[in-house]
Amino acid sequence: MAKKVLIVGAGYAGIEAALTLNKKKKRDEVEITLIDKNPYHTLLTELHEVAGNRISEEGIRIPLNSIFKYTDVNVIMDEIKSFDFENNRISSDKAVYDYDYLILAMGSSPNFFGISGMKEHAFTLWSFDDAVRIREHIKKCFILASQENDENERKRLLTFVVAGTGFTGVEMIGELGIWVKSLCKEHRIPREDVRLIIVDMLPRILNTLGEKNSAKAHRYLEKKLKVEVMLNTKITGATENSLIYDGGEIGTKTIIWAAGIKACDDAENCDIDRANRQKRIKVDEFCRTENKNVYAVGDLGGLADENGIPYAAMVENAIQTAHGAAENILNDIRGKELKKVKVKFHGTMVSVGNYFCVSEIMGKTLPVWLSMVMKYMVNMHYLWEITGFRGVWRYLYYEVLERRQRKILVEKHWSTRVQAWWITPLRIFLGVMWLYEGIVKINDGWLTEPKLASFLGVVSSSTAGDGADVRSAVTGVIEIEKDENDA
Ligand SMILES: Cc1cc2nc3c(=O)[nH]c(=O)nc-3n(C[C@H](O)[C@H](O)[C@H](O)COP(=O)(O)OP(=O)(O)OC[C@H]3O[C@@H](n4cnc5c(N)ncnc54)[C@H](O)[C@@H]3O)c2cc1C
Repeated sequence: MAKKVLIVGAGYAGIEAALTLNKKKKRDEVEITLIDKNPYHTLLTELHEVAGNRISEEGIRIPLNSIFKYTDVNVIMDEIKSFDFENNRISSDKAVYDYDYLILAMGSSPNFFGISGMKEHAFTLWSFDDAVRIREHIKKCFILASQENDENERKRLLTFVVAGTGFTGVEMIGELGIWVKSLCKEHRIPREDVRLIIVDMLPRILNTLGEKNSAKAHRYLEKKLKVEVMLNTKITGATENSLIYDGGEIGTKTIIWAAGIKACDDAENCDIDRANRQKRIKVDEFCRTENKNVYAVGDLGGLADENGIPYAAMVENAIQTAHGAAENILNDIRGKELKKVKVKFHGTMVSVGNYFCVSEIMGKTLPVWLSMVMKYMVNMHYLWEITGFRGVWRYLYYEVLERRQRKILVEKHWSTRVQAWWITPLRIFLGVMWLYEGIVKINDGWLTEPKLASFLGVVSSSTAGDGADVRSAVTGVIEIEKDENDA
């Protein structure tokens, strides 16, 4: 009889686990079911682009049905609330699911570290809905500020604080740095009236990258995007109107919390051993938890490196642990030996707005333009793997053709967001004429005889056309002019 494999969570890890099982299973050997509370997969790494209005939200969600259309994976939309590992059963408010093997891949949630008022008053950037909520809030702040007469309230509306200088925080403030320029123009608000602030208790931003990259991104934030970077600053609280830190307070209506994560809230009900303070689930080297046939992967799983520290909660960890767990389930079903799962990180790219990016790939620092190209390539590669050409085209459509933010002149020619289509006939006409003239000139012998002098009007075409030496012809003209002057 087919073994039932249940996967909870259709993030990077859940998708990889389902696709690996589907690809490597033999006919009828396993029945794969993927459960997620949403009917789509979210590209979490691009959330800041939606929150900062660079791209439409449609650009970061991929319907699960389109990913699994041609596979044997059953997709169910449901939110799992309780886990009964004794009886191999999990359940939601409306259904109970039995399993032979279970993969927990529910990701992580923001961690507020118990800071007073933070959970109630801060925005988080950890889901599709979070990103849309931030974007709409920022738009509203600008509208209200443009109508506000109370100077203090106006200042609070125009002050945006991001807490945390890791990838998420820096990418978020970078997007805001670009977006506020057009918001200021739209609402006739001077840019100097807007404050963008990023705060952290650490001594430098992007502290998981090398110092050189960290300093480069820091400079860009301060000099180009006019962001105030507050380091060595301990945040102690938040209210409806302010962020409180050791030694002061910032009046603001917008705090975006990007300073910490912990295991997914819904997994808190799991009665299961934890690997660290972030409550990631303890697993052995095969990604198995203490409960029989239950695996934990991605941000939720706490697979440890050789020093016993859980691997960083990043996409590469999610994909590799999920792949390893799926293979081990198949090995177990087939009575084969399980394989140790090891995670290998290849690199990191952090974008700061749409024209700046820092990266470290295989220990090397890449220049800005190459980092940006790499970021696009990595996303396209991932989408190619899970959805093929459709996913890549969709991504390019939203990132390139439909991008909402400021564009340089060249980009305007291919953007659907700029009214540049009317010059298309002109461009086609110019192209055709250029081609026609080129062919005519080749037929006239431009590739075999010198013609440029006559073309520029320096010498008569007959002289050059006869194949005379152009230099002497030109010299001749100059000499004739000289004789005339002497006369
Ligand atoms: C703004 C931002 C930028 C980032 N940038 C990078 C980056 O540049 N590089 C990088 O490597 N990493 C980055 N990360 C981290 C990366 O996104 C995560 O490491 C990765 O998403 C983890 O994948 P996962 O599958 O474990 O979890 P997730 O991708 O979070 O997926 C979890 C899934 O589980 C579902 N789920 C949760 N609870 C339940 C439930 N009870 N029932 C059913 N379904 C449930 C959710 O709906 C979700 O689909 C970034 C994260 C953010 C937020």
